Amino acid sequence: MELNDNKTQNTLESSTERSTEKSVVKTDLLGMDRAMMAAYFVEIGEKPFRATQVMKWVHQMGVSDFDGMSNLSKALREKLKRLAWVRTPKILAEQYSDDGTIKWLLEMDHHNAVETVFIPEKNRGTLCISSQVGCALECRFCSTGQQGFNRNLENWEIIAQMWVANKALGCKPKEERRISNVVFMGMGEPLLNVTHTFPVARILMDDFAYGLSKRRVTISTAGVVPAIDKIKTEVDVSLAISLHAPNNRLRDCLVPLNKKYPLERLIPSLYRYVEGGHSKKHVTIEYVMLDQVNDRVEHGHELVALLGDLACKVNLIPFNPFPNTDYKRSSNNAIHRFRAVLEEGGLNVTVRKTRGEDIDAACGQLAGKVADRTKRTIHRVTLDQTVNF
Ligand code: SAH
Repeated sequence: MELNDNKTQNTLESSTERSTEKSVVKTDLLGMDRAMMAAYFVEIGEKPFRATQVMKWVHQMGVSDFDGMSNLSKALREKLKRLAWVRTPKILAEQYSDDGTIKWLLEMDHHNAVETVFIPEKNRGTLCISSQVGCALECRFCSTGQQGFNRNLENWEIIAQMWVANKALGCKPKEERRISNVVFMGMGEPLLNVTHTFPVARILMDDFAYGLSKRRVTISTAGVVPAIDKIKTEVDVSLAISLHAPNNRLRDCLVPLNKKYPLERLIPSLYRYVEGGHSKKHVTIEYVMLDQVNDRVEHGHELVALLGDLACKVNLIPFNPFPNTDYKRSSNNAIHRFRAVLEEGGLNVTVRKTRGEDIDAACGQLAGKVADRTKRTIHRVTLDQTVNF
């Protein structure tokens, strides 16, 4: 497949860096999935099994310095020091919420930084990671969308968020995991950056790296239909859809990507995703609760009809406000009423508990530092090019 062929090549090219010392081009190892890493070791004349050894050091032990990789021969360590590196970002800020949520601001280049959030709960800990610097989709109710878009994050920049958080939380192999779940719900649209998000999902699920099960790695998308179709064959992760509206008229306005992939294309792609999977496979439907906009009883009935007998769970997200937004959070009454309509219609519904609000770490509040390049024309070109892969 075209996507596959380009993937390894792009990533190897884009993850190489010129060392300032001797002008040697060094290859970054942090962002490589197992197949890429094995190919890399063969390329430098080594055995492919070195890939699993190095992955364990990097991802499970948090070691970025080849000298610390004691089961590699001295000669191999010296060779890796010359040819490769494990590139990690600078932590620009770390904020703690009263409810235990932690937010990191990570520097990706001199102009851009992204945010990553850890949300501890009773029986699990969820890391919410970013896939792009900013976002090009301009969903009306999302603060990231208001900030503009700069670029896709590369593999190493995405997996580095897990690496940094894991290390900061003091995680050790064989101990209970503090990060049990990873969601691509930070800044950006992960399915407009599949070249980099798919290998990262594979690293998250690799037993030689973080070993998370596919139920615990979730890609959240505003609905990039061709990429939804690729998930099943390329990387079997869980899927969440940012639906937010039960009809095209309202969704065109809240999630402008709907004009490109309207509901009559999106919903069948969700049936295709769950079909043939294991018996419990389902899609999570995210629905932000906006006062008087999408929270009326008739919207609830429309949503029940739209979802039909799709295997799904609906997650109602109380809107998190940010400066200069016209939207308001639905009242608790409206949320309860809406939930009741969906449940009467046979849907399985949860209401998301808002976390990390005091440090602007809640859904849709992530801002980072984005050198906006979306002065309209660039924006359109980027969106169209990435959508039409
Ligand atoms: N682009 C992806 C992932 C980022 S958004 C997507 O659209 O799914 C992650 C989730 O937070 C989405 O469901 C998004 O719609 C929701 N969200 C965005 N802004 C929000 C806000 N202000 N309040 C509550 N949820 C919001």
